[in-house]
This record gives sequence, C-alpha cells and structure tokens, in this order.
Amino acid sequence: MEFEYNLSLDELKMRTSKDCLIPIKLLDKDSEEYLKLDEGDKTALIYLVKAAEVGKKVYMKQDNPYNLEFEKFLISETEKGSEEAKFTKILFDAQSGIIGIDSKSQDVILAKNFKSTMGKAFYPADLTVEEFHKILINMLENGKTDEVRNILSQRTMVVREGEELKGIDYTIYFKTEFELMAECLKMAAHFSTDKNFSAYLLAQVEALVKTDAMLDAKADKLWAQLQDTPLEFTISREQYADLLTGTVMENETLNNLLKKHKIEPLSKDSIGVRVGIINKSGTSDILKIKDYLPFMAENMPYNDKYEQNISKGDNKQTMVDVDLVSLRGDEGAYRGGITIAQNLPNNDKLSLTIGGGRRNVYHRQIRTNKSPEALARRQKRLDAILNKDFHKFYNPEADHWFTIGHENVHSLGPNSGTEALGKYQHIIEENKADMGSIALLNVLVEHGAYTEEQKKEILVTFVTNLFMKAKPTLAQAHRVRSVMQCHYFLNHGAMKIEDGRIVVNIDNVIPAAYSMLSEIVDVQLSKDFQKGEKYVLDNFVWGEEMEKISKKLQEVDKSLNGTINTPLADYLITLNN
Ligand SMILES: [Zn+2]
Repeated sequence: MEFEYNLSLDELKMRTSKDCLIPIKLLDKDSEEYLKLDEGDKTALIYLVKAAEVGKKVYMKQDNPYNLEFEKFLISETEKGSEEAKFTKILFDAQSGIIGIDSKSQDVILAKNFKSTMGKAFYPADLTVEEFHKILINMLENGKTDEVRNILSQRTMVVREGEELKGIDYTIYFKTEFELMAECLKMAAHFSTDKNFSAYLLAQVEALVKTDAMLDAKADKLWAQLQDTPLEFTISREQYADLLTGTVMENETLNNLLKKHKIEPLSKDSIGVRVGIINKSGTSDILKIKDYLPFMAENMPYNDKYEQNISKGDNKQTMVDVDLVSLRGDEGAYRGGITIAQNLPNNDKLSLTIGGGRRNVYHRQIRTNKSPEALARRQKRLDAILNKDFHKFYNPEADHWFTIGHENVHSLGPNSGTEALGKYQHIIEENKADMGSIALLNVLVEHGAYTEEQKKEILVTFVTNLFMKAKPTLAQAHRVRSVMQCHYFLNHGAMKIEDGRIVVNIDNVIPAAYSMLSEIVDVQLSKDFQKGEKYVLDNFVWGEEMEKISKKLQEVDKSLNGTINTPLADYLITLNN
C-alpha cells in the first residue's frame, strides 16, 4: 500500500497545538498510588500493561485493515525526517487509527483516499448494506442458519467466502494476539497478591485461548464480583464501533427470516483494555449508592412490566473508583472524548444468563482534570453560555454524582429484547440512563443520599453540559441523546435561553426528565424498531438555540481532540521481569 498524507502541514500543526489537542495524563511513575502497592502487585502490573498493548493491536485491526501498516509507514518516515509523518503520528496515536472523529463531529482522516465504513474492519471494506442483506437472505434461504448466526455474532470477524460471507471467531482470527495476552495474564495472575483477582485473570486466559463463549461468560462473572482488589484489569467489549450489523433490522424480509430462525443480530465487540489501581476512598464514596438502588428500582416507570436486574437484598452490582495506568484500544482511542465510567457487561453478554452481575468502573483521571488550563477553560465556557445567577450551582463534582446515577440506572429497567431497536438501541439505552439519573434525584434526596443544595448542583451542571460544540452525527450514541434531551428540556420548560445564555428552571427539570424516562422505557418495552426510530428522530432536533450556543462554545474552546499520556505504563513496559 502506498500512503499519502491527507492533511496539510498547517492543519496538522494546528490540530496538534496545545489549544486543539488536550492532553489527559494518567498515573505517573512516582505516584503514591503505585509506590504503595505490594511488590507482587507491582510486578503483576507490568504484565497487565503489556497485555493492554497487545489488546490495542487487536482494536486497530478491527478498526481499519490498514492501521498497523500506516503506523509502520509513519514511524519509518518520521525517522527519515518527515514533518508530515511526525505530526500525523501524534494524531494517529491520539485517535488510535487512520480515521477518527473530532469534538466537532468531523471525521479526521489521516491518509488520502480513505473513507469511513459502517462495518469498520469487522466486515469486508467493499461490502455495501444492500449486498450484505442480499447475501444473508440468500444464505438463510439455502438453509445456512448456523453460518448466518455466526456472521451476526458479536465475537466474529466477517470475511468473504465465494459468493457468501463467513464469520471467524475472535479466538481464531486473533489467535496470535490472544495467546500473547493470555501469556501476560498468566504471569500477572502468578504475581498478583489477590486470590480473587488472579482467579479472574486465569478464567480470562481460558476464554482467550479456547473458542467457547461460555468461557467469556465465566470470566465476566468473576470480574463482575471483584470489589476489594488492589488492581483493576478489564478487557472491554463495547459495541458502538460497528454500525453495519444493526442495519439488518431495517430490512423487513431479512428481519422476518432472522426472527423465524431465532437469530439475534448483535453488534461486534470492539476490544479495549483498561489497567488501573483501585482507589479506596473514591470507591467507598461510590458504594454509598448501593443502599438506595432498591428505592430507585421501585420508582422506575412501568416497573411492573419487567424484571429488575437488582432484586431486593440481592444486589450483584460491584463498583470501583480507579486510578488509571493504561487505556488502550477502544478504551483509549480519543474520538470526541474518553468515557468517564463504564457499567459492564452489556445486556447481550452471556454472563448475565448464568447469574453474573455487573461492575461499574469510574475513571478518576478522566473526570478530574484540575490543571490551571482546564479550570480557565471551564470558567470561560460558563461566562459564555450560563446565566451568572447559576454559576454558583455549577460543580464538576456534581457531574460525577450524576454519572454514578447514570451507571446504576443502566442496571434498572427492561433488560432484554432491546436489541430489536437496532441501531437506535444504544442511543435509547444511554438516554434512559441519563434521564433515570435525573428523574430519580428526589428519591435520593429523600433517603439522604444528597442534600437539596447538591441536587441543584447536579441539575444545573447537567443542563449546562447538554450543550455541545457541534451537531453530532446519528452514529454518536453518546452525543445524540444529549441533543434529544436538550430539545426535550427546552420544550418542557426545564430551561430557556435568555440573552444568549442558559437559564435553568430548576423545579421543572426533574418532572421533564421523568416524563422523558417514561417515554423511553415505553419504547424499550415495545421492542418495536419503527417506534424507536420515530422516538429518536422526533427528538434529535438541533434547534436554533443549540446552534447559537454551539457557536459561542467554539469561540471559547478551540479543542478538537485529546490524547492520553501514560507515563507509568510507558515506564513499566520497559521493565523486563
Ligand atoms: Zn452509559
């Protein structure tokens, strides 16, 4: 492959300048959190960090077939002194690939003549939606049910085979990488001082080297039980990257055939790896919400129409606050942002069918950027868009409280069948988590989790953060729902724009959120693709107010991308043990 640079040197320099590319620093090698670990855990950490680097390779292969080749090209051209290569490599590392999206929802394409595809590298690059559907229909009509089930599984890479397609299990397609990861995890398990953590790592080793989804389920189940361990390690399998699988729901003939053969199409797992050290005091703060979950469950709309994941007295949810050492692959690719917390496994995962619970992991270094530059950026932003009377309620810590609610509401509400909503399922699920976190705030205040004052801080901070620098694309589940909520809140009197700035009608925010939550749960219960589509499109309205505020945000905040710096991980990787 002959590569050419797609961005001019001027644009590359602009995009990598300190106003545009925001650094996020994970743990340093002289950090107290690392230094106070037991020697065994320090050694285990070396192997976990190495496993993460291998996981990143898997992600890059899933993302674009040319990522690794392009990376090599950039390294060798940089050595020859090319300026373009040097700056392109900085952006390539930040977004972990040739194509990524920036904070204005524009594709940043680093190599000329490359285009983003719905199926990423999970599917053949030249496969169109029409051809994809046609092949699947033909295969089903020819009795190839198991083959189609395999193609639409969340753990296969799909390749062409003659006139047909074929799904290859990750454990086979990524055999080399998975075996290497397994070796690292075996060593980490050997040195780790925590029995439960080691047992999980060994279960993960099994799942990586043998082709059996149930082994992943067993590993997930052990992982989700981890609460009091010194270290954190996750192989995450999020499903936002693949936009092709979900399209099968939109083809009526195909959808009916799939239903007839009881095939559930599941978006592909995008591999990410997280390595960290558990923060004890942050964790104990987060755990407090556990006592309130049953009350939240009781107050969910239509709660007589589905079974709650958290039944009374038997709450399987674990929660940890983590100081991050490494984020790689899907976890660390900065594409419009990095997640501040995750609640896994997702609904489609087998572990939930064998009695496994969920685990929430909160990312400390992502949520708490207290550098002077970050504080100055925040104040400029508030001055530009929020009415002065509300500044006193804006509190970044309140965003963390909101997030705790969000992650926990993922465990409430309908927990099966939402795949029927196809490409809209994630937008709707994220919307549910947000609205639940706001709608149930009075329940939390009533039971003493937060004060009235803290409630106001959560509401004002949440509403202010709904406004974005640019209209997102429909593919950005995490942003689309913010536009929907912004539109909904403006129309339900929860806020208004006065003299170009946000005025929050504090009393109306919770009722508006409850009303939206009820509509969302109703859509989820319907398992009706058309209804889900209509709900998203009716609310995904980028109004005039949003456009005005976005222009102001663009003026005060020039950032386009971010990049993760991992000094401790970079140091550990050089150690040979
Ligand atoms: Zn979420």
